[in-house]
Amino acid sequence: MPPIAKVVVEIALDREFDYQVPAELSASVRLGSRVQVPFGRTTARGYVVGFADHSARTDLKQIAALISPKPLLTETMLKLARWLADYYAATIEQAIRTLLPCAVRRKGAGFRERTLVTLAGALPDKTTLAALRRRSPKQAAILDILQQEGELPLAALLRAARTTPSAIRSLAEKKMVILARATAWRDPLADQVILPTEPLTLFPEQATALSLVKQAIDTLKPSVVLLHGVTGSGKTEVYLQAIRFCLDQGRGAIVLVPEIALTPQTVERFYSRFGEAIAVLHSHLSDGERHDEWYRIYEGRARVVIGARSALFAPVERLGLIVVDEEHESSYKQAESPRYNARDVAVMRGRLESCAVLLGSASPALESFCNARNGKYALCELTHRVDHRQMPRVRIVDLRQEAQPTTGAILIFSRELVAAIHQRLDQAEQVILFLNRRGFATTVLCPACGYVAVCTHCAVKMTYHKGADEVRCHICGRAQRPPARCPKCLAPTFKFSGIGTQRVEAISRAIFPKARIERMDSDTTTHKHAYSRILGDFKAGKIDILIGTQMIAKGLHFPGVTLVGVIYADLPLHLPDFRSAERTFQLLLQVAGRAGRGDVPGEVIVQTFAPFNPAIQAARRLDYLSFYDQELAARQELRYPPFAHLVCLTLSGLLAEAVQRAAQTLAERLEQILPKTVILSPPIPAPLSRAKGQYRFQIVMRSTSVKTMTAPLKETLKTTRFAPGVRIIVDVDALSMM
Ligand code: ADP
Ligand code: ZN
Repeated sequence: MPPIAKVVVEIALDREFDYQVPAELSASVRLGSRVQVPFGRTTARGYVVGFADHSARTDLKQIAALISPKPLLTETMLKLARWLADYYAATIEQAIRTLLPCAVRRKGAGFRERTLVTLAGALPDKTTLAALRRRSPKQAAILDILQQEGELPLAALLRAARTTPSAIRSLAEKKMVILARATAWRDPLADQVILPTEPLTLFPEQATALSLVKQAIDTLKPSVVLLHGVTGSGKTEVYLQAIRFCLDQGRGAIVLVPEIALTPQTVERFYSRFGEAIAVLHSHLSDGERHDEWYRIYEGRARVVIGARSALFAPVERLGLIVVDEEHESSYKQAESPRYNARDVAVMRGRLESCAVLLGSASPALESFCNARNGKYALCELTHRVDHRQMPRVRIVDLRQEAQPTTGAILIFSRELVAAIHQRLDQAEQVILFLNRRGFATTVLCPACGYVAVCTHCAVKMTYHKGADEVRCHICGRAQRPPARCPKCLAPTFKFSGIGTQRVEAISRAIFPKARIERMDSDTTTHKHAYSRILGDFKAGKIDILIGTQMIAKGLHFPGVTLVGVIYADLPLHLPDFRSAERTFQLLLQVAGRAGRGDVPGEVIVQTFAPFNPAIQAARRLDYLSFYDQELAARQELRYPPFAHLVCLTLSGLLAEAVQRAAQTLAERLEQILPKTVILSPPIPAPLSRAKGQYRFQIVMRSTSVKTMTAPLKETLKTTRFAPGVRIIVDVDALSMM
């Protein structure tokens, strides 16, 4: 080993430091090793990211100790960290931190040990045993249990024998049982009985897709396959069989699903096929469970990882395949630095690991489909549902026709929707009502003077929540009692206008008094098990109408649902974002996918004020290609993604003026050094101009190359001093521009 190690220290800023490798460690320090080093006056922990023969400095200190004997990061993962830091304009420590879960990095977390008890050999002879039974029946009972069950954890044995540790201790002293410490793997899937399943015989389109993916795995060259398949077309079965192929070749796989779709239902499907080879990583695991799952993968006990965004960084060796399900989902984007998109990083990891990447979706992101059209990705399509089950029929209801002419009040349920629900209820079928906004009313309005309750910390209207009888801000979470009188004109009456899921629930109960109705959104599922309970009840047919936000739109399979009602389809359409049409279309397609997954054909009713909007019309025809073509033309005209990369800079701070000045200074500096190929938009207040008390300004850059933007930006940020308290967020390939 060269005598000098380059170390990234966990606490330092985007720098590598040179250290001497002491002779006694030279055999064991490797790339990716976790080390303890002297740092300033204290010590710090860090990672070895490279080696060198020489250093510019002469006063090098020595590495103090090796923390973990085996490196936690492979050379490939270090490369990935460098790429992450570079591409997303983050620091190298932030990137490394992203690759390793906190529970693995932290000092305290570790394996849980427990004591296992086993028989020390055969049971004692008959006379000894008989004597024992007389003198101390408890001890005899312990031997009986061990005889039957084999090895048992101490706690379980105590429970089973209803006895105390002293009984076991005296058996150990007599050398009749052995106590041993062993790692107890925390198992997030413990206590679940899951029946194994066998691969299904594939339909021709599925078989074509599978053979393409197998080829991609086989070539040992990086390649990306985009699987565009309508909802219910059997994409998951293709994933399962591709993973089996990987395993048969001694390679591992990672499956990413959106957090919201990581339901027990989904995990069960993978577990039932691969059993113990599965590891699950998601945000509801305890630190200990996460630690153990990570090490099960690291040690090669688990070869298939299923999880949300961060599972992409799981230490799977000999990776053969990365699946990104619902690849268009915006939840793959991380909300803190490095603000990476797991779908894009998956493609990069695939390249570095020389493995196949399979992106699946019913409505691929424009970026991905464009890559497939250009031949960068291989494309395969599943054009119909399994068993040729019909796609649901989509009907558009024009809400403008439904407004009450006298009061102008909006009808939340059109006559068409009410009739359709009645019909489904009469036939004992199930209904989903979808609205992407929780709460009861969206605005608290004074009809006398027009006052609207707005959060004092954020530039958004407050939402009324009926059960708690309070108004809440959905940005910062502040809540307060609704004012008794209008704070402006003192009029005593308030009107609640607009709609949220809670209001939809209240009205549904009034219109369909006999129906069993439940609501599912982040307000009703704060309790850990509420989510599974509601889904379980719905699946078991104990609920007739399920009302919810996008929580119920994704990936769920309910054969009993024959009608999906979209209460108000235009919500995402009004967001000030160039992706609003794409969002609207994708969401409608997703929601529609929940209808008619069983034997009865499904129906979707979409209520809207913009019935002729192209995104809504394309959704009516469930026609991805025509949506894609028309939207792509618009993007090209405006030079938005996929025709350019976009970097969004958000500056925020408590003083509006300071933030604005900083934004202006930054824009001027950038203007001077950015190449002409970059389109720089002048600073403007962000659409969400104030959040949690902070004023927010935005600068947007666009260019075909990310580097032409981020390299000058990094330079500028290093050399420019902004007013204290002004924070800058750099979001490369931003998905939301709020
Ligand atoms: P997607 O992931 O595209 O939404 P799924 O993989 O969930 O679709 O498939 C929908 C349903 O069809 C599931 O219940 C699945 O078990 C079933 N299915 C998928 N492929 C086959 C097949 N080849 N033969 C029989 N049933 C299948
Ligand atoms: Zn607020």
